[in-house]
Amino acid sequence: MKPVDLRSDTVTQPTPAMREAMMRAPLGDDVFGDDPSVNALQERIAALCAKEAALFVPTGTMSNLCGLMAHCQRGDEYLVGQMAHTYRWEGGGAAVLGSIQPQPLAQQPDGSIPLADIEAAIKPDDAHFARTRLLALENTWGGQVLPQAYVDQACALAHGRGLATHLDGARLFNAAVASGRPAAELVAPFDSVSVCFSKGLGTPAGSALVGSREFIGRAHRVRKMLGGGMRQAGVLAAAALHALEHHVARLAEDHANARLLAEGLQGLDGVSVAPPHTNIVFVDVVPAKAAGLVERLKAAGVLCTGLYRLRFVTHLDVGRADIERAVPVIRAALH
Ligand SMILES: *Cc1c(COP(=O)(O)O)cnc(C)c1O
Repeated sequence: MKPVDLRSDTVTQPTPAMREAMMRAPLGDDVFGDDPSVNALQERIAALCAKEAALFVPTGTMSNLCGLMAHCQRGDEYLVGQMAHTYRWEGGGAAVLGSIQPQPLAQQPDGSIPLADIEAAIKPDDAHFARTRLLALENTWGGQVLPQAYVDQACALAHGRGLATHLDGARLFNAAVASGRPAAELVAPFDSVSVCFSKGLGTPAGSALVGSREFIGRAHRVRKMLGGGMRQAGVLAAAALHALEHHVARLAEDHANARLLAEGLQGLDGVSVAPPHTNIVFVDVVPAKAAGLVERLKAAGVLCTGLYRLRFVTHLDVGRADIERAVPVIRAALH
C-alpha cells in the first residue's frame, strides 16, 4: 500500500486540473518581462496582499533573500527569531551573499519575540555597531498563527524606530484560513511579504515576494544577481494562479485532518500532542520511546520527520481516510 506521506506539505503532486492549467498557460520570456502568466500571477498575489507589486521567484529561500537584500545594505543587520526560517534554515544566505548581519532573538512558545527584546536589540547609531535596518517575522510559525495584536505592536515598534518589516509568510494562507482573516489584513503592517505556492497550495515550485513598487524594483535586481531570472516561467506561474483560485479555502480540510490526527494520538504514556492551529502536528516523545521511531513508522507505512519531536504535516494529497489509517499505526509505534 502507498505510504501516508506526512513529512511535509511540499510533497504534493500537481493535480490533473493544475497540470491542465500549466499546459494551457500563455508564455513569454519573463526576463524580458513579457510572460503573461507570470505578470498575471504577480498582479494577483500583490492584490491579495493589498500591496503595489510582486516578484515571482523559484523558491521561498530566494524570495526571503531577495527581500532581505532589498531592505538591507552591506553592514546592516536584521532582527529575527532564533528559530526562524530566514535565520536558521536558509544556509546563512543573508550573511554569506548579502553581508547582512543577523541578530537572532529568543522566541516565546507562540513564536513571538518579546517587544522589550526587540527594543533592546535595536543598536544606537554608533560606528561600533551594525546598522539595525529590519525586523523579520514568520507566520505561520511552527504551524501556529502569530497573535495579530503582537504583529501590529512589533511592526509599529520597528517602524517607530526607523526599521523596515518583512514577513516570511511561507504558509500565509494557512494563517488566513485558520484565523478567518484575509491575507491582506495579516500582512498590512509589513513592508514586504514572502509567500510560498509549493507548500499547502500544492504547486511544483515557486514563491512570490510582495511589497511597494520601488522595493520590488530593487528586489528584481537582486533576483537577477542570484540567478533567479527564469524565462518561460509562466508554466509555474499558471500552477500558482490555479492554486490561488482552487486550493486556498480547502486548506481548512488540511487543518481538520491535523486536528483529527492530534486527537487520535491523545492518551499515550510518555507522548504529548499539542492541538494544532493549522496543518502541522508536533508529537513530543520521551527519549525511552524515541529510538528508531521514524524508521519504524516508515516500515509501517507512515512517513514523518523528527527525533524526540515528531512532525506530521497534512496536505492536499492526504485525505481523512489516510489519517484514519495512520492513527492506529502511529499509536502502535508509540505504545
Ligand atoms: C518552506 C519555507 C520557506 C522556503 O523554503 P523553500 O524550500 O526555499 O521554498 C521559508 N520559510 C518557511 C517558514 C518555510 O516553511
